[in-house]
Amino acid sequence: MTKGRVALVTGGTRGIGAAISLALRDAGYRVAANYYGNDAAAERFTEENKIPAFKFDVAEYAAVQEGVKQITAELGPIEVLVNNAGITRDGTMHRMTPEQWEEVIHTNLSSCFNLARGVIDSMRDRGFGRIVNIGSINGQAGQYGQVNYAAAKSGIHGFTKALAQEAAAKGITVNAIAPGYVDTDMVRAVPYHVLEKIIAKIPMGRLGRAEDIARGVLFLVADDADYITGATLSINGGQHMY
Ligand code: NDP
Repeated sequence: MTKGRVALVTGGTRGIGAAISLALRDAGYRVAANYYGNDAAAERFTEENKIPAFKFDVAEYAAVQEGVKQITAELGPIEVLVNNAGITRDGTMHRMTPEQWEEVIHTNLSSCFNLARGVIDSMRDRGFGRIVNIGSINGQAGQYGQVNYAAAKSGIHGFTKALAQEAAAKGITVNAIAPGYVDTDMVRAVPYHVLEKIIAKIPMGRLGRAEDIARGVLFLVADDADYITGATLSINGGQHMY
């Protein structure tokens, strides 16, 4: 019954989210791709892939509830939620501004609450739901210059385990994926000399591809993945062992 289930991917028109949207579509899901800032990329994505894009800020509770309402009206109740949207605003603690802290916490972590809150009632009513939250290796291990990002991503892992416990009795699974460094715009912003050192620590010897993460999402949202919940799947070419 995977076919036809409605899946919402936040930040689903670029980078990892775009690969997730495409993988879900190819597997027969009816996909809604959310985005917020980059209209041109979203228009291109929709035109090329025939996946509708919905513009709202995942950090804003009211906007998210409106977005969920609109998607439900157009496609049907959301049964699969992938909390993927995220940003970085790096800086060491002595230089980080409260704005950098808040923007990253709200966009990366509060968004998971905003979205899950928007879909949980209907998932409970239907007795089925799949939620996948995209964390990060830097939420597991920390990272220089990223107290805001590491805190938000680490928060996602706790959020996942708490919600998994609450939701299990209603047929809803909640899992996280912790990607390593994946070749997207986000990582292209990291200076090459820093990336070189990071790649040297990856046993597989390369950056991840967005499709590597999408493969994990597809696995976790499958109907018959119903005994996997509260788990974190590390997809990082083995980097988590170092
Ligand atoms: P990109 O920067 O390539 O894409 C980010 C996506 O999130 C875009 O679609 C963007 O929309 C969307 N987005 C950002 N802010 C908001 C917002 N306020 N509301 C709605 N959508 C928003 O990032 P990646 O694909 O690299 O990252 C995707 C996820 O994976 C993030 O959570 C990131 O933290 C995580 N991750 C990435 C890693 C990497 O190495 N790339 C490693 C570990 C985790 P728009 O197009 O409109 O700007």
